[in-house]
Amino acid sequence: MAKIVVIGAGFAGQTAALYLGDKLGKKHEITVISNRDVFGYVPSWVWVGVGHMKPENTVFKLKPVLERKHVKFVHAAAKKIHPDVGDQYVIGEEIGTGKEVRLDYDYLVIAPGPLLNFAGTPGLGPDGGFTHSICSLPHAVKTRDAYLSLCERMKKGEQVKIVVGTGHPGATCQGAAFEYIVNIHKDLVKKGLRNKADILWLSNEPALGDFGVNGVQIKRNGIVQKSDEFIKSVFNDHGIRYQVQTGVTKVEEGKIYWQNYEGEEGVTEFDFAMLIPQFKGQPFQYIGKDGSDISSKMVNPAGFVLVDGKYGLAYPELAQTPEAWPAHYNNPNYPNVFAAGIAFAPPGPISKPFTNKNNLLIAPAPPRTGMVSGMIGRVVAMNIADLIEKGTMTHSERMTEMVAACIASMGDNLWDGNAVTIVMRPVVPDRKKYQNEYGRDLFVSHLEMGLSGAWMKFMLHHTFLWKFKGNFGWKLIPE
Ligand SMILES: Cc1cc2nc3c(=O)[nH]c(=O)nc-3n(C[C@H](O)[C@H](O)[C@H](O)COP(=O)(O)OP(=O)(O)OC[C@H]3O[C@@H](n4cnc5c(N)ncnc54)[C@H](O)[C@@H]3O)c2cc1C
Repeated sequence: MAKIVVIGAGFAGQTAALYLGDKLGKKHEITVISNRDVFGYVPSWVWVGVGHMKPENTVFKLKPVLERKHVKFVHAAAKKIHPDVGDQYVIGEEIGTGKEVRLDYDYLVIAPGPLLNFAGTPGLGPDGGFTHSICSLPHAVKTRDAYLSLCERMKKGEQVKIVVGTGHPGATCQGAAFEYIVNIHKDLVKKGLRNKADILWLSNEPALGDFGVNGVQIKRNGIVQKSDEFIKSVFNDHGIRYQVQTGVTKVEEGKIYWQNYEGEEGVTEFDFAMLIPQFKGQPFQYIGKDGSDISSKMVNPAGFVLVDGKYGLAYPELAQTPEAWPAHYNNPNYPNVFAAGIAFAPPGPISKPFTNKNNLLIAPAPPRTGMVSGMIGRVVAMNIADLIEKGTMTHSERMTEMVAACIASMGDNLWDGNAVTIVMRPVVPDRKKYQNEYGRDLFVSHLEMGLSGAWMKFMLHHTFLWKFKGNFGWKLIPE
């Protein structure tokens, strides 16, 4: 009987656990260790942050779902990983009691999502800083409260400044911030307060609509349309000001300090700001048999798990090397250790990085969205099942092969809501297969705005919660 441990039960970990339970649960021992006893449907935290969805509607208890799928649940935070052959185990700290938990494994899936590195930007974040975040549920709730009290000030006639975007020169997840800014716009219009707010998009992207994936390009009737023009027209229509090519370096009360591509330094004033922090890997200790620190064999300097990618290529070469992106997501030194979702180390950025004359690197990190994280979770689970049953892996999916869809809602109302629907193939350009300057399949890729997207976004919330609960037919719903 093999023992499999999954760290984290988010998009990647929960998907992996469901497939592992389904394939192996009756014969092998599968354990999920999570520091939260609920699954959180992260995309809907955008709506929590504007007060349009109750926080409890975005979560469900993990234990009953996992046990139904023959997977054990341990409510603990993983702390240490001992990957050396002969004695492979994870040490966690039980939530509530602080007791040490030891979980032995034959296969390990590391899927704990990002460490939200607010410390990377002085003054950033809701805990001891001056800005807000929607990257965790407690943060989204705090953001909602701050936003609603800002609305109260506006109702009394006050003019306010709202800033939304990225809070670090290397931040990712611009899509979530974009969704939040347009939801704020829509909410203020509904409340009759839009004329009381100056709204600014402040981001590290090389261009509007880049989203850390080098933008989205589509071809219709022989004409190439690009996401920078598309997002520019959305912002112009909504009266949202924008400033890209900008890395936030520090925040003080009511003031955001930044530098741009030209090396100019500036200060933007704000009454309310939601800025996405830099993401890092979770700070696990990786310990060898002799008690030594073996982190360098497991993770990159940012703490993301090294897998079967080709690391160290400079951007121009990486952009021409689709096979540099990992296919199986296991560590070359410890092949029975897999990483899924945000936890794996990408080989480099997707969008062109830029270093300004002050030596500040302004470069969006590559996003590993929910869909991508789920797909990787499935690939990893199927390969573990393969290794146990056949001794060899038969599943692979590089980000240079994946199709991804993303819907950014602009208001959640099914009658007058709106949404931008983005489909791209592949997520990371493959300039060998698609011989255009974008490295994408311009016919499959799609970019559209309309009411139907709002319906789809609403349906996705319910459909994905159904899937992640492992309810009837869950496998038929694609990641
Ligand atoms: C506001 C917002 C909106 C978004 N909208 C979209 C969208 O519309 N579409 C889309 O595709 N993507 C979206 N994303 C991105 C998507 O949510 C992430 O890509 C996805 O959640 C990453 O999955 P993951 O499993 O790697 O991490 P997570 O989903 O963050 O899951 C990680 C889990 O591990 C747990 N964990 C952390 N540390 C430990 C530890 N030490 N021990 C045990 N467990 C631990 C965490 O509590 C968490 O439950 C959005 C992101 C945000 C922030």
